[in-house]
Amino acid sequence: MAKSYDVVVIGAGPGGYVAAIRASQLGLSTVCIDAWSNAAGKPSLGGTCLNVGCIPSKALLESSENYERALHKFADHGIGITGVTLDVAKMLARKDKIVDTFTTGIALLFKKNKVDSMHGFGRFAGKNGDRYVIEVTGSGAPESIEARHVIVATGSLARDLPGVTIDNKVVCDNMGALSFGEVPKRLGVIGAGVIGVEMGSVWRRLGSEVTILEALPSFLAAADEQVAKEAFRQFTGPLGIKIYTGAKVESVETKANSVTVAYANREGNRHVAEFDRLVVAIGRVPNTRNLNADVVGLKLDSRGYVEVDGQCRTNLPNVFAIGDVVRGPMLAHKSSEEGVAVAETIAGQVSHINLDTIPWVIYTSPEIAWVGRTEKELKAQGIPYRAGQFPFIASGRARALGETAGFVKMLAHAETDRILGVHIIGPFASELISEAVVAMEFGASSEDIARIVHAHPSLSEAMHEAALGVDKRTLNI
Ligand code: FAD
Ligand code: NAD
Repeated sequence: MAKSYDVVVIGAGPGGYVAAIRASQLGLSTVCIDAWSNAAGKPSLGGTCLNVGCIPSKALLESSENYERALHKFADHGIGITGVTLDVAKMLARKDKIVDTFTTGIALLFKKNKVDSMHGFGRFAGKNGDRYVIEVTGSGAPESIEARHVIVATGSLARDLPGVTIDNKVVCDNMGALSFGEVPKRLGVIGAGVIGVEMGSVWRRLGSEVTILEALPSFLAAADEQVAKEAFRQFTGPLGIKIYTGAKVESVETKANSVTVAYANREGNRHVAEFDRLVVAIGRVPNTRNLNADVVGLKLDSRGYVEVDGQCRTNLPNVFAIGDVVRGPMLAHKSSEEGVAVAETIAGQVSHINLDTIPWVIYTSPEIAWVGRTEKELKAQGIPYRAGQFPFIASGRARALGETAGFVKMLAHAETDRILGVHIIGPFASELISEAVVAMEFGASSEDIARIVHAHPSLSEAMHEAALGVDKRTLNI
């Protein structure tokens, strides 16, 4: 007889594994099925985020930033270093060790929280009364399990560029871009999105000539325009990445050790560029491949996302979907919070996720982070607002760090003063944005932030000054 659970979670990325832990904590018998195997062919929990996404990319960003500091930034501090060397194999091994620590850590968390873990591919096989039957195909014979509740957390896959084959040697997606055995002399990137600028930064700092081709006429379209403009200036200036917006890729021809990309520039002129490696990072698509959604009538939208309401309920009773496979930003923390909320809903609690206060972070140098609405969105929605801004060049802490590029900008409602958005480009933007998220969740006004004491000298003073700036009363500029 098939083993039966209260909850089956399909996918152990940051959405699925967190949902499984929370469900089990709430007393629901839970199994989590995941198909991911690492390069050594071993099961590896944690999905895209831990295996080939957030964690390994941040490890390489940190390593390459340290290399850059040693080569170019320590001298300003009076620290002279000669004979700086680069051991790419060691850098990749460090990254892999970090990944391994976290992926094996999830297996331990499952044990600690009494979550059953199954390695294999899960798909809907029908219903048995009010229970869903899930078939799991692993290394042995297929197994069936049953559960009253299903959480689909199958994540996303890199979007294909028609006519281009990813071999993850010469032409790569995010997986290959994290594992080049040596620094490519000429690196091409298609897509100036988050992966394009993060991975482009890594390899540029390690010595590649990096060229990014972006289809849209604008750069980082989701970010605040002023932030995107400053980012473009920093990435194409001090960092030295070439970024061509409005570029239409016409063909990609792969050879044994190089790749030729033909594209039309924004004026329509044809160019041919040769690269040693090419990264294709043009977005991600929801992964419902071979899930057999139609066997139970699970509704997908026209783009392949599982259709859900505000509580992540699908069209089927007791079937939920979370994370990259549903609407909303494709971010690990959004997936996890949806996982927690769904587990609590299944356990009969009231749970809520506010998609309006999900922070975005791009881990370039300078970092970029934002929460809430941009000026462009507020203008389009006819919402009256006031803006306050403070540059890091006027921050004592930023000066001490030697990281003075960028600013904090706060947008608040012109009448109520409620904070509507905060946009940061600058040092530790990833950490600074939390204050803005908390403020917005508590419905704070810019005056609330302006009246809070911020430590001196700290980067958070830039947030304080931006809040003061909303009322045109900055103190240090
Ligand atoms: P996933 O992490 O994709 O996990 C889904 C899991 O389900 C996978 O293990 C998959 O193998 C498994 N699966 C799929 N179908 C089945 C099936 N039928 N049966 C069994 N298992 C199945 N986000 C951030 O917030 N911060 C970052 O810094 C960041 N950096 C990123 C860097 C890169 C290079 C990339 C590619 C992504 C990055 N992201 C980042 C995005 C983040 O990785 C995703 O938003 C997040 O992983 C989504 O979590 P998820 O649980 O929804 O899906
Ligand atoms: P993205 O959506 O951020 O950017 C894709 C870019 O490719 C866009 O600018 C788009 O206009 C461009 N593009 C699309 N088709 C193109 C074409 N044919 N030619 C040239 N350009 C084209 O996607 P991504 O960079 O692939 O990353 C995928 C997702 O992963 C992100 O949206 C994000 O949700 C997540 N991610 C997050 C982080 C982070 O949080 N720091 C880091 C990496 C990835």
